[in-house]
Amino acid sequence: MKTVSDYFGSLVFDDRVMKATLPAKVYASLKKTIDEGTELDISVANAVATAMKDWAVSRGATHYTHWFQPLTGITAEKHDSFITPSPDGGVIMEFSGKELIKGEPDASSFPNGGLRATFEARGYTAWDPTSYAFIKGKTLCIPTAFCSYSGHALDKKTPLLRSMEALNKQALRILKLFGSDSVKRVTSYVGPEQEYFLITQEMYDQRPDLRFTGRTLFGAKPPKGQEMDDHYFGVIKPRVAAFMEELNEELWKLGILAKTEHNEVAPAQHELAPIYTTTNIATDHNQLTMEIMQKVASKHGLVCLLHEKPFAGVNGNGKHNNWSIATDAGQNLLSPGETPYENAQFLLFLCAVIKAVDDYQDLLRISVATAGNDHRLGANEAPPAVVSMFLGDELNAVLEAIETNTPYNGTEKTQMKLGVDVLPKFNRDTTDRNRTSPFAFTGNKFEFRMLGSSNSIACANIMLNSAVAESLKIYADRLEKAEDFETALHEMIRKTIKDHKHIIFNGNGYDEGWIREATETRGLLNYRTTADCMPHLLDQKNVDMLTSHGVFTEAELHSRCEIMLENYCKTILIEANTMVDMAQTQIIPSIESFVADLAATATAKKALDPALACSYETGIVRKLSALTDRIGVKAEELKDAALSLDHAEDIIVQSAMIRDTVLGLMGELRVACDEAETLTSKKYWPFPVYADLLFGVK
Ligand code: ADP
Ligand code: MG
Repeated sequence: MKTVSDYFGSLVFDDRVMKATLPAKVYASLKKTIDEGTELDISVANAVATAMKDWAVSRGATHYTHWFQPLTGITAEKHDSFITPSPDGGVIMEFSGKELIKGEPDASSFPNGGLRATFEARGYTAWDPTSYAFIKGKTLCIPTAFCSYSGHALDKKTPLLRSMEALNKQALRILKLFGSDSVKRVTSYVGPEQEYFLITQEMYDQRPDLRFTGRTLFGAKPPKGQEMDDHYFGVIKPRVAAFMEELNEELWKLGILAKTEHNEVAPAQHELAPIYTTTNIATDHNQLTMEIMQKVASKHGLVCLLHEKPFAGVNGNGKHNNWSIATDAGQNLLSPGETPYENAQFLLFLCAVIKAVDDYQDLLRISVATAGNDHRLGANEAPPAVVSMFLGDELNAVLEAIETNTPYNGTEKTQMKLGVDVLPKFNRDTTDRNRTSPFAFTGNKFEFRMLGSSNSIACANIMLNSAVAESLKIYADRLEKAEDFETALHEMIRKTIKDHKHIIFNGNGYDEGWIREATETRGLLNYRTTADCMPHLLDQKNVDMLTSHGVFTEAELHSRCEIMLENYCKTILIEANTMVDMAQTQIIPSIESFVADLAATATAKKALDPALACSYETGIVRKLSALTDRIGVKAEELKDAALSLDHAEDIIVQSAMIRDTVLGLMGELRVACDEAETLTSKKYWPFPVYADLLFGVK
């Protein structure tokens, strides 16, 4: 029998394959590009392309594609075959270094937010050698960045790589100050925990809302939901287990380190977590994981729902972004150290994150903002829309001691020196688990919990890397000029704690009282919807920070703001139109049929015995008739509200109209329909209800 280690990474052109197939000089040169970002010579590219092609063809590949991540949020690929005609009428399989390095897809059908003039339809894709090429089906996929012809990023990978570079640059400056000259590179690492629902294909096909929008737009609360807490970590059903088994195999073949799987809180909800890797690869892998989850589910007669809120009344799907930074020598910079010097360095990096999260609360909120995720944030199941940080009691006490110049855990009143006396060795287990915090320190990494399940993790990590790079830059600027390094360091750490401690909150983030305290007493931001937060992407301080680190150009930021808001509006409009359609062409006619049946029953009963009251039938007929009228009216109002959006002068106004009118009407229409569902015979209801959907997979 084949073991996992036999086939792990078998579809990846990874280091093992490179070493085995490339001439030593080519391998060394490519490795230098991967590890240190040096430029690649065309002769090296040619040799790599040939080896890649031979390897892929020997595994049955016929095509190659530049695989990229446009701003649609999913991945894109255009396939070209390797064939080239040979003079004898046959073909040979060819692939050049030029084709490997650069592609020129037509960019006109991808969102660009005004970055691309119509005469300039071409875009180009550029090979990212830091993420391995892999085979999907019969196609060799080459991870690439995607830019407009004038060089503006049209994807999520380009700014992510730039943000990693910015973080590397500033972190190296800090490490130098601490005497670490041998460190060549600092990289951010991520382990994203992915949540999802599995339902049967058969039921999915009967629900236009699921098919068109990925979530249920109607559905009364089932008799049983998640209140028994019996699904979390529960026994995995055979059909789900078979899905997970095949999913793992497919992911392992692609070199994706799928590690943990379990049932989640809501019925039919599950989670998959990989072992963490560099942010860039983790992002590529997470995109692939989402794609393969859906593909494998379909082979098992299931549908994998990645929407943030597929069902009202039970938990939605999130994605926890476990983030850390480490050196090329493997030192985790967010891990408390052994020596006084290491501890001081740890505290500085910790402060850099605290400052970053506080200064750029808005960017972190923006980075997770989508129409879907707005349903989760603040709904008592996911962190609120207010960004705050959890550090745990022990670390908190350390920071407090530093701020107030009192010894930690000590009795003597002495001036605090950064060192062993300040920072005790952490007992990992004492970094208690606060599950309600948007941004929690978990011993040697931070867990950013606001991400939506369907969203690329690129956006969150771009903002996180950039904001932390900015803190480090400010620190490095000051420390490089300091006369006495230790005093300056101490003062800076103290100042950071003083200035930014209002972002630290160790209590229950789901508590109503917290939101009041956060906004009224602490002055933290509370952007409840995408329409509220997105325009702040263009606030001067954000533009200044992101452009100064070369992560985005100002034009790119304008384009992204526009695309994200457009996306928000389109998503909700499709939902509104789907609701109107379902209400008018499915729900009302079904209720009418049932009502007609009830009325006919009452008439027949009375004909049999005029003394029969038939109060049950008439009562339901009355209630359902009133509800039908309300559904009819609300559907028309929603239709009109959607139409009136055409008159909005710009996308910001349109998104505000959607937030203020369309969403409310959708809610009202839903309430009427859901009530009707509870009164209507199941035989007449036009699609599977929540109880079927949530408990349908055996
Ligand atoms: P949980 O949050 O469920 O307790 P774990 O502590 O097992 O989960 O870790 C969740 C994720 O965090 C996994 O993907 C894991 O690989 C990742 N992770 C662990 N250590 C680090 C680290 N130093 N940097 C980034 N991610 C990490
Ligand atoms: Mg977690």
